[in-house]
Amino acid sequence: MKVLVINAGSSSLKYQLMQPEDGAILAKGLCERIGIDGSLTHKVPGKEDKEFSIPMPTHAEAINAVLAALTNPEYGVISSMDEIDAVGHRVVHGGEEFASSVLIDKDVMDALYACVPLAPLHNPANITGIEACRSVIPNVPMVAVFDTAFHQTIPPKAFLYALPYEYYTENHVRRYGFHGTSHFYVSRRAAEMVGRPIEELKIVSCHLGNGSSVTAINGGKSVDTSMGFTPLDGLPMGTRCGAIDPSIVEYLMQVRNMTAEEVNDVMNKKSGVLGISGVSSDFRDLDKAAAEGNERAQLAIDLFCYKVTKRIGSAAAGMGGVDVVIFTAGVGENSADLRAKIVSGLEFIGIAIDPEKNNTRGKETDISAPGAKVHTLIVPTNEELVIAMDTASIVGKK
Ligand code: AMP
Repeated sequence: MKVLVINAGSSSLKYQLMQPEDGAILAKGLCERIGIDGSLTHKVPGKEDKEFSIPMPTHAEAINAVLAALTNPEYGVISSMDEIDAVGHRVVHGGEEFASSVLIDKDVMDALYACVPLAPLHNPANITGIEACRSVIPNVPMVAVFDTAFHQTIPPKAFLYALPYEYYTENHVRRYGFHGTSHFYVSRRAAEMVGRPIEELKIVSCHLGNGSSVTAINGGKSVDTSMGFTPLDGLPMGTRCGAIDPSIVEYLMQVRNMTAEEVNDVMNKKSGVLGISGVSSDFRDLDKAAAEGNERAQLAIDLFCYKVTKRIGSAAAGMGGVDVVIFTAGVGENSADLRAKIVSGLEFIGIAIDPEKNNTRGKETDISAPGAKVHTLIVPTNEELVIAMDTASIVGKK
């Protein structure tokens, strides 16, 4: 089976044509600057990358460009669009409506539109990607896979904010959690790596990238997570502030004469390690600046690691223990220094890593110190594979 996985942003669209049975990637790529001018980078494993400038006034032209690249006689990988059996779309927010992936039909589209107020920065772009696909290849079945779905098992004591209860029942204000496909994938891989059934394990999954979240997974189910009503809550991130005292918003509006929108924009785009360091949102730049003596870059790294350490402790406390800690995503998979800094101080709950094993990048590795009570693992994430597998199983069931 061939599944096209689509992750549409407001001006970009990532794609992968995959075989879910074995995870093989036939081709992948990225459309950028949609609505501005338009560029497409198309990659076929084992072949030279192709880059094109193609006018992309809307996402529909971007989808057309992707399909043209996939079926091109020279650098394509399929002879016609008929070979695409299904399309899997990443959707950031599924609200409480969607606890699992679904086949997209008119009712689902209506429900997706209803979720827009919950994720105004993300869902409109995801919907635009779906609508564009439906207009270009209307007869191909499509599935929506939600970042929030895996977290629908979180119990009320963990998902409710202590606000008047009607704000939850009437206005849907609660913790939803994100990065669900990533936490789901790496937790399943982790159980295989340690050779135990996931039902027996207490796992703390740390997805540390440009966006970051820590999830407590007990018996295979998400029971708590650091991101909240939006992906702004929890850890400090590349440009997002993470959890702060909510009173700061009104205070800033007064003393800096800002609107609520302006404060929100700063909290999302100019805070996090960028805001602290004044250097960059990218951890590689921070590492370099810190090594050159930039104290604020070092402070941003220290602050980030400290908050991750505390979140791991809090996730373990919530579950009454921890058997496995997972590091995944750009920072978690690649930065030995940050992993070491994060786990130092967690020896008291049995977490200890081996410096040599930790000197690894981007591949599945058990980096635990000999005799450590807790398995600490690097598990590269693969959200596209989860989307392709869910899509295949739902379309197969049709
Ligand atoms: P992601 O959002 O998962 O793509 O992760 C992006 C983040 O991972 C960026 O901040 C990168 O700087 C960071 N990253 C990637 N490779 C490394 C590395 N070798 N060391 C430190 N950070 C890295």
